[in-house]
Amino acid sequence: MIVCENLVKIYKTRDMEVLALQGMDLEIKKGEFTAIIGNSGSGKSTFLNMIGGLDTPSAGKLFVDEKNLFTMKGSELEQYKKNTVGFVWQNNARNMFPYMTAVENIQLPMQFVNKKTKKSWEFSGSDKEKALELLELVGMSHRKNSVLNQLSGGEQQRIAIAIALANQPKVLLADEPTGAVDAKTSNYIFDVFRKLNEEREVTIVIVTHDVELAKKVNRVVRICDGKISQEQIRKQSYAEQLAHAESFVEEHSHEEYAVLDKAGRIQLSKEFLEKIGVEGKRVKVEVMDDKIIISK
Ligand code: ADP
Ligand code: MG
Repeated sequence: MIVCENLVKIYKTRDMEVLALQGMDLEIKKGEFTAIIGNSGSGKSTFLNMIGGLDTPSAGKLFVDEKNLFTMKGSELEQYKKNTVGFVWQNNARNMFPYMTAVENIQLPMQFVNKKTKKSWEFSGSDKEKALELLELVGMSHRKNSVLNQLSGGEQQRIAIAIALANQPKVLLADEPTGAVDAKTSNYIFDVFRKLNEEREVTIVIVTHDVELAKKVNRVVRICDGKISQEQIRKQSYAEQLAHAESFVEEHSHEEYAVLDKAGRIQLSKEFLEKIGVEGKRVKVEVMDDKIIISK
């Protein structure tokens, strides 16, 4: 669903250039639920904005649902934003029109959607009925007639998810959607995402700073300085894990991988280097049986 090769983004301001993405490689399959983690300023939002068609990449390759984000312009890009992707921002107020009720906000994007494009998942009924179904999905049916300032941050965020889903997107993007809500609401929101992913096969990419929440996801990708540095893949599904909750050790839920780029480079964490006492810029690399050994 998402193919990203050697993606580069440079922001140019009057007196400097910021290299926000420095050759990112990442492939995300249809129906995958991926979390992106990384320090502040590492390029997470930049990456999400590129996928969402909100900003243009500087170099490399980026395809979403076989559409080339480099060459798409004008009406094609508008169609892409209306039909292929849904976006949830951290800032709740940005997700909703303040003078419209929750249900009206969800109905709004439905009016702009191209009804002829094939959707990855379908639901039937009038726009109003669909909007109510989405409210039900995020557990907000009782707030259908509320406006922005009558809703708590967590409630606004749940409605924002329903709005992002109104156009039945193939890809749902969320930039720190739980950044401003309490732990209970965060958990609830994550469960909504997981349900969506499992039942409707929506491909989901979520940026989060919450490492604990990220563990609920099958695939966790860490961005470091505008590049993927590390990946964690869940060994068993979250459902299986819940079934054997009493014998489960959280630290062992994911297998950790360093990521090779196209040129065969990997990044080693500071922790690892400190553990083997590396100083300076050189390490010794040798192949022994079926292993590559790195030592000081
Ligand atoms: P994250 O979401 O991981 O915190 P961002 O993607 O927002 O990181 O930012 C990555 C880098 O790009 C940072 O150094 C940031 O200051 C810079 N940056 C982001 N947006 C802009 C912009 N519009 N103009 C200039 N620099 C920017
Ligand atoms: Mg960000």
